[in-house]
Amino acid sequence: MDDLSLLIDLHISADRQGPGGTAQTRLAIELSGLSEQQGLKIADMGCGTGASTLLLAQDLDAHIVAVDFLPDFLDALRSRAAQAGLADRIETVNASMDALPFDAESLDAIWSEGAIYNIGFENGVRMWRPYLKPGGILAVSELTWLTASRPAELEDHWHRQYPEVGTAASKMAVLERNGYAPIGYFVLPEHCWLDGYYRPMQLRFSAFLARHASSDAACAVVAAEALEIDLYERHRSFVSYGFYLARKIDAAHPALAAAPKPIEHGMESSAGHQADQR
Ligand code: SAH
Repeated sequence: MDDLSLLIDLHISADRQGPGGTAQTRLAIELSGLSEQQGLKIADMGCGTGASTLLLAQDLDAHIVAVDFLPDFLDALRSRAAQAGLADRIETVNASMDALPFDAESLDAIWSEGAIYNIGFENGVRMWRPYLKPGGILAVSELTWLTASRPAELEDHWHRQYPEVGTAASKMAVLERNGYAPIGYFVLPEHCWLDGYYRPMQLRFSAFLARHASSDAACAVVAAEALEIDLYERHRSFVSYGFYLARKIDAAHPALAAAPKPIEHGMESSAGHQADQR
């Protein structure tokens, strides 16, 4: 079995394939203001087996298009949706998040929990913006430094895994320079990592290893996850997922007009100033 199939096998039976929680998805829904609207169309990018998809379908008057590039996860999502009586509100699309079949300005909201890093945060928010209606909502969770500095071991690990990891201020700046107005932010609490993701995963390790006769590849998958869990447990006050809510701003907004000539500061302008005074 190849590495991807092993990862699918380890994660497919989980409620979530990344850190998160029901209360946190609901808090993001509340901050988004979407509850007040009817007949919404929302895409859930990198939906996995659909923890957030199901909540969106349950809580909102909306049609949800759940996007993932792994058909196995989408199959699992469809059975969960059928079991919850939500199948008629949810459609699955097997596509990559960076090659989407949506029409321009066709979505009221784009949701994505623990997934945008796969195509890069800035790349993702930039690529997805055209699909949103004017004023549409972007709701994404993204790996975020909680402090201005952190232990070198933690920094080295995440920089290797995800070079774009940054502070909330840097993520807000990315949103602002790509045509969004941030409208909300919160940090996933520790239990979203430990109880919502890592503990249930640890409980699956032994059956997973047994299914694969403790092959070298299966042991390597468990070892990599165990290393990440250990690192998180020791450095949990420095890193989490930030949940970012933002509104697409008008294309006519000055921030999106053709790049203006930079205003010149420093020596030249002060020289000019001196000349004026002369
Ligand atoms: N949102 C889910 C899953 C998060 S795990 C949850 O919070 O539980 C990340 C998901 O992104 C996985 O399901 C993975 O299959 C999917 N994914 C990774 N790269 C992708 C890509 N390029 N296009 C579409 N889906 C992708």
